Amino acid sequence: MPELPELEVVKEVLQRRVVGQTIESVQAIGPGSAIVVRDLTHLGFAETLTGAAITSVARHGKFLLFSIQSASPLHLALNPKLTGRLQLAAPTDKRLPKTHLVFALSNGAELRYVDQRTMGQLYLTSDLAQVPEYVGLGPEPFDVSLDEFRERLKPYRGEIKGVLVRGEFIAGIGNAYADEILWAARLHPYRKRTQLTAEEIDRLYAVIQSTLREATDKVRVEMGEDIHLEPRGFMVVHMKAGESCPRCGSPISLVGANQRITNFCRTCQPGGLIKGM
Ligand SMILES: [Zn+2]
Repeated sequence: MPELPELEVVKEVLQRRVVGQTIESVQAIGPGSAIVVRDLTHLGFAETLTGAAITSVARHGKFLLFSIQSASPLHLALNPKLTGRLQLAAPTDKRLPKTHLVFALSNGAELRYVDQRTMGQLYLTSDLAQVPEYVGLGPEPFDVSLDEFRERLKPYRGEIKGVLVRGEFIAGIGNAYADEILWAARLHPYRKRTQLTAEEIDRLYAVIQSTLREATDKVRVEMGEDIHLEPRGFMVVHMKAGESCPRCGSPISLVGANQRITNFCRTCQPGGLIKGM
């Protein structure tokens, strides 16, 4: 699932390559397009976007937000969820499997939407308040002061990893970067927020910022213009079960399955009752 670092870099690339372009055509391919497209305007997705200009691209949390100038200003809000990806391609480039939408741009490039499991959503709307999961999103991690961070944590009493991935707490952190952040903070993912000391909370605040900034820099280098990729080879613990912790050499632990995998170092991140064990 793309999280803040990946989507921040995707946004930067789109700002360079897509903003200012006109959408010359919209091609919906197969039944998948009907699943991912949510036309909240009821004016017709392809009809409305054809001939419209893309005036800006922004990111909030795990949403990418396109401002569209059609007959009136609209938003195209992408929630890629687990498997949704955008791709920039030339019309002659072979399409990736599960390409559901192709936007032909006035500069000759194509912006494509690819989604292996058709889980993402593309909302066309005049009002972002209509977009599910967007309303109620918390602030960006870099916009939160330490005092505000402490205050925002207070209502949550559960396991700290579960708190970090809640978009209404802070937007943009998912399962993978929560593992990386907690390793950097030396905090066991299943420790309750109520068990954390003031010093640990302050440390957590600092490493959220540093981990996400450093990851964004690495993604920027590794992704380049290939915005459909999700470079994560640099991660320290996430999906590294059995490998050695770079800090202490202990094997990285794995708890959970599928999209709910948690990886951490039992030596560097002590304490906490282990779920399911
Ligand atoms: Zn370790």
